[in-house]
Amino acid sequence: MQIDNSFIPFALPDIGRDEVAAVTETMFSGWLTSGPKVREFESKIEKYLGCKRAVALSNCTAALHLVLEAMNIGEGDEVITTPITFACTVNSIINCGAKPILVDVEPNSINIDYKKIEKEITSKTKAIIPVHFAGAPVALDEINALGKKHSVPIVEDAAHAMGSSYKGKKIGADSYAACFSYYPTKNMTTGEGGSFVSNNPELAERVRRLSIHGMDKDALNRYSSTGSWFYDIKEPGWKYNMTDTQAAMGLVQLEKLDGFNNRRRKIAEFYNSEFKDIKGFSTPSLEYGMDHSWHLYVVRIQDNAKVNRDQFISALKELNIGSSVHFIPIHLHSAFSQLGYSRTDLPESVNYFNEAVSLPLYPKMTDDQVARVVSAVKRILS
Ligand SMILES: *Cc1c(COP(=O)(O)O)cnc(C)c1O
Repeated sequence: MQIDNSFIPFALPDIGRDEVAAVTETMFSGWLTSGPKVREFESKIEKYLGCKRAVALSNCTAALHLVLEAMNIGEGDEVITTPITFACTVNSIINCGAKPILVDVEPNSINIDYKKIEKEITSKTKAIIPVHFAGAPVALDEINALGKKHSVPIVEDAAHAMGSSYKGKKIGADSYAACFSYYPTKNMTTGEGGSFVSNNPELAERVRRLSIHGMDKDALNRYSSTGSWFYDIKEPGWKYNMTDTQAAMGLVQLEKLDGFNNRRRKIAEFYNSEFKDIKGFSTPSLEYGMDHSWHLYVVRIQDNAKVNRDQFISALKELNIGSSVHFIPIHLHSAFSQLGYSRTDLPESVNYFNEAVSLPLYPKMTDDQVARVVSAVKRILS
C-alpha cells in the first residue's frame, strides 16, 4: 500500500458540489450583488443563532468597523480589547479615530481576563470588544455586568465562535453586537464574508445603511419589480455589503455547520486523548464541552519540552505538516508600537505567544491525516 505523505495544510475549507451548484445557479439568476439570497441568508442566520437581526457584510472586519461607527465612536474615545486577536479588531478601533486599550488574557482560556477589565474603564471608554478566542466562549455574564455597571456596550468579536454557545444559547443569540467571519479558514465560509448580529434593531439598521453608502434603500428595493429608482443618502457610509453569490455558498455551508463543528470536536478530543503524557506539552481544555466551536486547536510547547516552539514548527514542516500561530500579540507589531505598550507589558499574552502552536483541525481532515499529526507530534517531542 502507498503511504500518503502529502502536505497536510493547517486549514482547508470544505466545499462540495452543492456549494458549486448553488453559486452557479445564483450566477445565472441575474442577481449578483445583494438580493434575494442575501435576504434568505440573513434570515437563516437569525434563525440559527436565535438573534433579532443579522446583517450580511463583505467580511467580519467590516462588521467590527461599522458597528463602532454606528455607535458614534471616534476621536478621543477608548475601546478595550485583548492583545491576542487578529489585527483587524484593533484596526477597526483605530480607523474610527479611537484608541485601543489592551487588557491581558487569562492564561488558561486565552480570553480577555475579565477581572482585569474594570481598572481600565475610564470616562472615555465607549466599548469593550472581547474575542471568543479559538471558539471558547468568554465570561459573558461577568463582562456584560461590567458593561452595564459602567454603561459601556459590549461588541463581541465572534469570528471564531460560529456555533459556540454560552449557558445554553448560541453566541450572538442575545448580543447587543456580535461580529462573525466567513473567511476560508473559519468554521464556515463564503469565500470572504461576515455577519453583524444584534438584539437592537435600530443599531442593526444603522449598520446596514452604513454598509451601502448610507443609502435608505438597498438594491432589491430599487431594481426589483416592486422597487423604485429614488433613494436618499442619509449619511456618508461605506460599501461593505455581501453579494448573492457569497450568500448562496453561505446558505449551503450553514446547513453543514453543526456537522463540521462536531467533526472538529471529535478530532480535538482524539488529539487530547493521544497527547496526554507528553512532557512539556499542554493541550487545550475540554471543559467547554459542546459550547466550543473548535475553530482552533492550540497546543503549548513549554520550557521543559524536548524542543522549543520554533523548532517544533520546523520539525512539523519537515514531516509535511502545516501549522500556524494565533496570534502575535497586538502590542508586538510595529504598527501598534505607538499604543504605548512595551514588549514586556501584558505578560500573560507574551508568555502564551512564545509557546503557542495551532495544529491542523478541520472537518475535511481524514482519519489518516489526524493519525499522521498525532504520530508526528509524538515523534518530535518524545
Ligand atoms: C478572522 C478574524 C477576524 C476577521 O475576519 P474577516 O472576515 O477576515 O474580516 C476578526 N477577528 C478575529 C479574531 C479573526 O480571527
